[in-house]
Amino acid sequence: MSVDGSLKAFKQAQDLIPGGVNSPVRAFSSVGGTPLFIAEGSGAYLTDIDGNRYVDFVQSWGPLIFGHRDEAIESAVIDAVKHGLSFGAPTQAESDLAQLVISMFDSIDKIRFVSSGTEAVMSAIRLARGYTGRDDIVKFTGCYHGHSDSLLVQAGSGAATFGNPSSPGVPADFTKHTLLAEYNNIESVKKCFADSSDIACVIIEPIAGNMGLVPADKEFLHELRALCDASGTLLIFDEVMSGFRATINGAESITGVRPDIVTLGKVIGGGMPVGAFGGRADIMAKLSPEGPVYQAGTLSGNPVAMAAGLAAISKLKKNAQVISVLNERAKRLVEGMRKEAESCGIPMQIDTRGSMFGFFFNEKPVKNFADACNSDAQLFAKFHSKMLQEGFYFACSLYETGFISTAITDEMIEDTIKASAKVFKEITN
Ligand code: PLP
Repeated sequence: MSVDGSLKAFKQAQDLIPGGVNSPVRAFSSVGGTPLFIAEGSGAYLTDIDGNRYVDFVQSWGPLIFGHRDEAIESAVIDAVKHGLSFGAPTQAESDLAQLVISMFDSIDKIRFVSSGTEAVMSAIRLARGYTGRDDIVKFTGCYHGHSDSLLVQAGSGAATFGNPSSPGVPADFTKHTLLAEYNNIESVKKCFADSSDIACVIIEPIAGNMGLVPADKEFLHELRALCDASGTLLIFDEVMSGFRATINGAESITGVRPDIVTLGKVIGGGMPVGAFGGRADIMAKLSPEGPVYQAGTLSGNPVAMAAGLAAISKLKKNAQVISVLNERAKRLVEGMRKEAESCGIPMQIDTRGSMFGFFFNEKPVKNFADACNSDAQLFAKFHSKMLQEGFYFACSLYETGFISTAITDEMIEDTIKASAKVFKEITN
């Protein structure tokens, strides 16, 4: 398999773009490789510029639950484009998508659209601070909430990969209001509340996907809700990744814990740049222009992006059973890979939530970021590069979650397991 075209393209990109990429995790640094340059995606497959084809388990890092070039989404986008790319004025599609999402999330009375998950979370935090009149926030080690200053503290994902607990360029003054707690450890949250009486919100990925896939225990989320209620603190579920992937009605529908604000991204845009945050009417009423908390965006609610989101989310709502079908497929994949790994003496921890899957080369169950960091990163790097050579495109960091799309067939799952068997044997021989 030749990747000469990608190597050449990457070299050129490195001269022009820092690190050759426009988002760090794409650089393949943590697996010691170089990124493939993609020519096109179709259904379950990505094709690189050298003509190699891969089964895609990254799905553009989550948005493409129906695979590449889904017919309904593609035609909705083409249709929207013909009416104009952007107006900077309201369109009906914004209300249509708003109504759809509100109908699916009990906790969302009103919603606002933005252009990325980062923006959604940044705005939700400002809203929580504006609503409560408090400054401090609690976040969990290993949870990633985008790259805004006050949240770039002990984040997982790309930040974990690069070992930057926080980034140069973020003044200490900006992060001094960010208190850190340990995922799935309620005592650590209690300590935050003991240390500060000025906590505006607790933000959590209820199904963490940025330290690998690590779902929060139900009991832990219930305790978190109770702690927030006792102190008038808002609870924010960051479902930029898990929203519409783990379940179509939000983590609240499977945990029984209702957040005050939910942040969304990825699937909600059907592959176009869309983020959103929504919540209780009295909280959302604080947002400008209705209320005093300022928030804006030139391209927010962009008509082409709304058309893609509307097509994706209405298709999902109509085909709600898709989540359990994808979950079965995801389970078969990771259970099959674990069996092959273990027959080669490689311990593996696995989990799935809907169309999200995760695996760690680790002897012990993973409950938090410290556990995730005890996984075998070198083994993951070898696995990643050899699977790529076999034609299977997995996320290039052990701290990322994998995604199944409806375009990935049972046969492809079987092929992936077979390839993993070959790869595990090669690695251990
Ligand atoms: N929140 C979560 C849970 C995410 O997974 C991500 C991105 O992966 C973000 C926020 C940031 O979203 P974006 O990359 O669209 O800015």
